Amino acid sequence: MLTITSAERIFADSSALRGSSAEHGSFAERSGDLTLDDGSPRRTVLDASGCVVTPGLVNAHHHLLQSAFRTLPGTRGVAMADWLPAMASAYARVGHDPDAYAVAASVGAAESLLCGVTTIADHHLNWPHGVPISDAVALARATADAVRSLGARLAFVRGSARDDPEWAGESAEAIATAIVPDGAGGVRPGGVSADGMIQVAVGPAGVHSDSRETYAALGAVAARYGLRRRTQANEQVDTAIAFERYGRRPLELLDEWGWLEPDVTIAHLCDVTPAEISLLARAGVSATHAPGCDVPMGWGVAPVAALLGAGVVVGLGTSGGGSNDAGHLLADARLAMQVSGLVGPQLPARTVLGMATAGSAAGLGRPELGHLSPGSAGDLCVWDVSGAADAGVHDPIGGLLWASPGRRPKHVVVGGRVVVRDYRLTMADEAEIVARLLSRLARTPAVSPS
Ligand SMILES: [Zn+2]
Repeated sequence: MLTITSAERIFADSSALRGSSAEHGSFAERSGDLTLDDGSPRRTVLDASGCVVTPGLVNAHHHLLQSAFRTLPGTRGVAMADWLPAMASAYARVGHDPDAYAVAASVGAAESLLCGVTTIADHHLNWPHGVPISDAVALARATADAVRSLGARLAFVRGSARDDPEWAGESAEAIATAIVPDGAGGVRPGGVSADGMIQVAVGPAGVHSDSRETYAALGAVAARYGLRRRTQANEQVDTAIAFERYGRRPLELLDEWGWLEPDVTIAHLCDVTPAEISLLARAGVSATHAPGCDVPMGWGVAPVAALLGAGVVVGLGTSGGGSNDAGHLLADARLAMQVSGLVGPQLPARTVLGMATAGSAAGLGRPELGHLSPGSAGDLCVWDVSGAADAGVHDPIGGLLWASPGRRPKHVVVGGRVVVRDYRLTMADEAEIVARLLSRLARTPAVSPS
């Protein structure tokens, strides 16, 4: 097991995780070398002078495919009803094939690691409808292989958006048995690979797009194999469509459909009432805050302080490049802190860092991630706070968010392996990853030439 030697000051924050059984987030401030000791004679030493060490960040809500589809015409400042078809036709122009998925996921994973995200929950919603199950498995595998080859952890969420329920369920089962096999025709416990690098979960896009039958089909696969369930709810568009179609609120429907349970994590939750917050807390559902998507899409700000106050575990996600244009979770942690005061008491920096680490990990059912305490999986980031942008900062942990917007970590370690050293990927060449995506987009452009 990885141990971190000669730690100096460790800061722990408990307020981020009230109501959680998970470990608390922990942050260390350092002034010397950081030694990674995995018990082998060869120790890895990283220069951590003038640095702050945090657990690796856990992005609880991403859509990796959208990394190839940022700032597209027709997707900025538009209603969701216009955004969805604009994105769908862009995906169709590029094509749903393993190469497109791999190049998009590589760029998304490279960006994630370079920004300190060591675990990415990729909620994949956009499947080419009706393709053979083996094709769906190939698309999932291309994504998983691309992320793994860079050294990041992936939670691949077999999502759905208006998929045929039976096909959604069958392909979810096929993806889980193919990507996280137990060697006996089934799925590894919890849907997590033996090395902890790949996890499979399921997740319909929301009651605005998926039927009760799809929720049931994906829920049945989750129950059979112990997979985590994830969905999205209470963006304004979701509540509006739920009311129009069912005369109900989305969380009422999810409750009735058996999707308000402790293994479920719900992203967005912008438009929630105090009664709904109590319902989520009683049900033991966890939440993912995604202000980097919610704010530019005009959905508003989720009442995170009220959710935390009620005992709901809250993680942090970026959502995808189609709305956020970046997968920089620390930047979104800063945004979360800045906009929190608009809907309640301002969230302290440590609370938001706790959300971006242990809070996100708890929602994935991964108590070994998101903290640096004994028993952790050894994912960490080393942030240099010795430059001008941090000079005069009294509290270097709070300053991680308040100061130096857009900062990137100097070193990133996943499972004891250094995957970013001195701001560069160690397992792949960033320029090559970029070139592969650009040449694919040159061949099959996302935007029509006219
Ligand atoms: Zn989303």
